[in-house]
Amino acid sequence: MASEDTGSSVFMAICSYGSEAVIISISKDTILDQIFKEIVERWRHLSSTMIEVKFYIPNKSKMLVTLMSDKDVRNMHEKHVNLNAKVIEMVVTHSPTLIEGAAVVIESGSSHCAEISSRGKNISKGSSSSFGQVVEETRAAIEEEASQKNSLDDWKNSIEGVGQEFMNVETLRDTIRNYCIANCRDFVFVKNDRDRVTVECVYEGCEWRIHASRLGNGEKFAIKKMHCNHTCGGGLQVRSHPKASKRWVSKIVKDRLQDMPLYKPSDIVKDIRRQNGVELPYHQAWRGKEMAMMDLYGNSRLSYERIRWYCDAIRQTNPGSIAEYETIDGRFRRLFICFHASLMGFIKGCHPLIFMDGTFIKHKDGGVLLGATSKDGNDDMFPIAYGVVDTECDENWE
Ligand SMILES: [Zn+2]
Repeated sequence: MASEDTGSSVFMAICSYGSEAVIISISKDTILDQIFKEIVERWRHLSSTMIEVKFYIPNKSKMLVTLMSDKDVRNMHEKHVNLNAKVIEMVVTHSPTLIEGAAVVIESGSSHCAEISSRGKNISKGSSSSFGQVVEETRAAIEEEASQKNSLDDWKNSIEGVGQEFMNVETLRDTIRNYCIANCRDFVFVKNDRDRVTVECVYEGCEWRIHASRLGNGEKFAIKKMHCNHTCGGGLQVRSHPKASKRWVSKIVKDRLQDMPLYKPSDIVKDIRRQNGVELPYHQAWRGKEMAMMDLYGNSRLSYERIRWYCDAIRQTNPGSIAEYETIDGRFRRLFICFHASLMGFIKGCHPLIFMDGTFIKHKDGGVLLGATSKDGNDDMFPIAYGVVDTECDENWE
């Protein structure tokens, strides 16, 4: 900071949350509330009661300090002046006290509910179960994030040396691949069969080599020989990696896709860049996602064949329901579903109003989703029926 009086320095603080960041100016007079205000303005789904803000101590890359008061903010400023730092690095995390507090609510019922609910703006008295669910999801997300953050480090050290055992040949191959990706090296298989796997550095003449073979007649593999130093010089100079194939991407995103079917390829690109240090082209992320979706849910095209079965099942198990499916020349034309319970709910408990709307389905086969919704006695939305059609036209609305 090129200021005469170092105490008046204004720092640029990069404050990150997930894969995004906001830049905040920090002077010696900045107070904690101002920092929270900027964060909440940037990420509107956060509230100051939900989060904690921490900063990295300059030159100690992994040491974090939580900002609890205005005094902490002053200390942070002073430390950066004294250490002659250029910027302040801050991170936003979810508040652990809120999560622990919520666990009490879930376990002990409604007595603590009002007390805890005053901490979060979206939480009303008596909503402990849905609140509990949100908290569980948040906790899972935080744990997942922490485990993913470590995955790059784990991968970098995943090959230990001669004698290391692997559950099966698949695990061995995956481990070698991840190890090389994390260490920015490329390799070729010299041998790759059911009993032996040998890999070498992609650069000819380099001595790096791993040889592993099957242990007895079992599934297990172990490293038998290894030369762990590259004599080829400095590794890959690009952040993209030739072994980051669509199969590799699909393995990484599969678990996440189960919870988040709308996980976008652009987010996959960002997450893999952050967690695995690999720059993926968009189309590779897209292909990886498609492959994982196929593994998880099968071929979406083939699932059309099951619609007729689904309609029959609805009619059999929910008497009085309407489930109609039409095809044209063997191709999907339209589907209409109205459950008997929805119909009775509309007749008995809703205002005599029906709202109709449609939206395009974001899927490679296209189509339009049409919905009929009413309002119930609490003025909440009450879905009555829905349909999927090829195009939005008068005939299909009928
Ligand atoms: Zn090498």
